[in-house]
Amino acid sequence: MKILVINCGSSSVKYQLLDMDEEKVLAKGLCERIGTKGGRFKYTPYHQGAVVWEKFIPDHKSAVEMVLRALSHEKYGVVNSIDAIKGIGHRIVHGGEYISQSVIIDGKVKEVINICTELAPLHNPANLMGIKACEELMPDIPMVGVFDTAFHQTIPAYAYLYGIPYKLYEKYKIRKYGFHGISHKYVAARAAEILGRPLDNLKTVSCHLGNGASVCAIKNGQSVDTSMGFTPLAGLVMGTRCGDIDPAIAAYLMKKENLTVEELEDVLNKQSGVFGLSGISNDFRDIENAQIKNDPQANLTMEVFSYSVSKYIAQYAMAMDGMDALIFTAGLGQNSYIVRQDICTNLKSLGVEIDKEKNRYCTDAQIISRQESQVCTMMIPTDEELAIARETKALLLNQKHCAGLAAV
Ligand code: ADP
Repeated sequence: MKILVINCGSSSVKYQLLDMDEEKVLAKGLCERIGTKGGRFKYTPYHQGAVVWEKFIPDHKSAVEMVLRALSHEKYGVVNSIDAIKGIGHRIVHGGEYISQSVIIDGKVKEVINICTELAPLHNPANLMGIKACEELMPDIPMVGVFDTAFHQTIPAYAYLYGIPYKLYEKYKIRKYGFHGISHKYVAARAAEILGRPLDNLKTVSCHLGNGASVCAIKNGQSVDTSMGFTPLAGLVMGTRCGDIDPAIAAYLMKKENLTVEELEDVLNKQSGVFGLSGISNDFRDIENAQIKNDPQANLTMEVFSYSVSKYIAQYAMAMDGMDALIFTAGLGQNSYIVRQDICTNLKSLGVEIDKEKNRYCTDAQIISRQESQVCTMMIPTDEELAIARETKALLLNQKHCAGLAAV
């Protein structure tokens, strides 16, 4: 069964075609700078190197059209005709309180995505554009929505409510939603597989550390808390985002620096985090290179970052009354043994003991803790596209129409 996975941003479309009988990637790529100058289409089929076309891509429909043409291209294609595609899985950012699992996309689901635009103004409209483009170009192929927020809908009210007037939650739905749910769910299931233990009897803390980063407490397979909040700005110190700060800083900064709301949002989202603290870069590789040269600001920045991750892990071990497994994933979590080591060193009192050699040289999913460590610590590469394709296949085979969709 061939499944096309689509991940639309406001000016980009990421895609992957998978053969789900073997869980094999047939082709993948990215359309960038849609609607502006410098449009670029990258396509990598499994059997040959990447092909890049540079041309103006007016809108999302044209981008999806290019994807379909490449997939069935006589020279570069991986299928004879697009009729070979049996389902499309869309990554959707926000499903608010309406969506608690993946759903087959119909009019009601589109309405929910539209309603949740208020909560994800950059992402949900782009997701809808992708859905519309696929509908127009492949009207007979069923589509599934896999939501970043859905996994966190099991977080209990005492953990998702903020200490603000309850009527503001009722009026505006201001609460913790959490993000990166597709990734946290996927790596937690992989951890259970690696450990040979049932997921429904496991207390896991998953650390998705990329440019955007979050920690998630997963008890018996369900998310019970996570560090991102109402928006992806909350929680850890990230590449360019500030993470948790005293909320009074926002008003103080606006007054002192004479900032508009948009300027303040820009400072907190794009000029803060590791980038703002270090003054070097938002890319952790650059910070680590500066650390090699003993740059004091780089050292301090990494201390702040590791401390912020360690604190969340400790909180979640407490919230679950223990922690059996600790997972590191995403760009930084998978690739930086130094960051993993620094974070784990802060967690000795919780029974986290990593094996320095295993941690240093791991390249694929594996246990990196010592045999006697109370907490089994792992590096597990995330694979959100595979997770989306699996959910799409399962739903299409079962045709559980609209399971997990609360009344709109
Ligand atoms: P996102 O999807 O949020 O952009 P990724 O999961 O792709 O994030 O991770 C990107 C981040 O991972 C970047 O900040 C990058 O510096 C970091 N990263 C990737 N490879 C390494 C590495 N070898 N060492 C340290 N950091 C790395």
